[in-house]
Amino acid sequence: MSNPSLLILAGDGIGPEVMEQVKRIIGWYGDKRALTFDVSEDLVGGAAYDAHGVPLHDDTMAKAQEVDAVLLGAVGGPKYDDLDFSVKPERGLLRLRKEMDLFSNLRPAQCFDALADFSSLKKDIVAGLDIMIVRELTSGVYFGEPRGISVIDNERVGVNTQRYTESEIARVARSAFELAKKRGNKVCSMEKANVMESGILWRDVVNEVHQADYADVELSHMYADNGAMQLVRAPKQFDVILTDNLFGDILSDCAAMLTGSLGMLPSASLGLPMANGRPKALYEPVHGSAPDITGQGKANPIACILSFAMALRYSFDQGAEADRLEAAIEAVLASGARTADLMGPEGGTPMSTTDMGDAILAALDASV
Ligand code: NAD
Repeated sequence: MSNPSLLILAGDGIGPEVMEQVKRIIGWYGDKRALTFDVSEDLVGGAAYDAHGVPLHDDTMAKAQEVDAVLLGAVGGPKYDDLDFSVKPERGLLRLRKEMDLFSNLRPAQCFDALADFSSLKKDIVAGLDIMIVRELTSGVYFGEPRGISVIDNERVGVNTQRYTESEIARVARSAFELAKKRGNKVCSMEKANVMESGILWRDVVNEVHQADYADVELSHMYADNGAMQLVRAPKQFDVILTDNLFGDILSDCAAMLTGSLGMLPSASLGLPMANGRPKALYEPVHGSAPDITGQGKANPIACILSFAMALRYSFDQGAEADRLEAAIEAVLASGARTADLMGPEGGTPMSTTDMGDAILAALDASV
């Protein structure tokens, strides 16, 4: 059997800096766990624009369609702010998401005990938190037609349309149920079925998919406004939250910030299964290219490393190895090791991006 394949698109700003540490971790798995990946690298974002005049070359797009998973760093930066919209760095990322049809966006909110003081909520409410928001990413009100601003009866009217088809709801629901089976086996679906017809359909279809194929997963429903309240009141009641594009946008940012720094947040975007059964997949940290700290060795690589842990779990069925990597990060944080973004008011000496990579590799060594 051939090795699983990874395409690394490090991108711009701190993207290459944090990805350098991920490459070391990937190498460690090959050396120490006989888990070898065929890794190729290419350009995306501003880096691709500089080389090719486009933020994603067609050849890179074709490669992304062929590999088992894509790992992306970050795109963008002030150098590219004045480019035409069609060639802005972000367009490269949007093209990947669109052409790979990545409809299921996974945003975990996981609070490492050592960082519980960073949350704006009380420590006991967030310590040990581990929830996953599954947001529909390619339909709903951000894409529905009609849309636009027009003049009606002498005043401007803005219109957007919340639109979901049964199949769009069913496929993201399946993705959430499948995930729940690899975690706590619970899904809470959130919509506004009390005031929106699209919400009524959403609830119906989620129930149908559940009854047909996932009756062994515990399913509940919640109105999205109550969901927002429950997320800050008692977030640990949830395992997987399934929701649409608009509510997911808001709820996932809210949930993510329960856990502290942007430098800690991974994400995955998944599509339909390929011929080998693995889903189309792109893994990336939530943060951007952080131009304010680029080139200074200050970037926290953990969000990007946790994104690779998600790849191990969701693309390569290596849940135990993903646990190992997350436990190594937990141990490093528990020892007091911190990059600058994780320094509390008590101060101390922050470690560099490479130092953090060294510490995580040492914790991995200690785990075998
Ligand atoms: P940003 O996420 O790049 O940075 C926000 C703040 O968080 C900055 O102070 C930054 O230093 C800090 N930060 C972010 N990641 C960090 C890390 N790993 N370690 C330590 N500190 C970290 O967001 P921004 O400043 O709004 O955007 C900068 C550029 O990134 C823009 O061009 C934007 O369009 C782009 N962007 C790209 C993505 C992406 O690639 N997915 C996402 C968001 C923003």
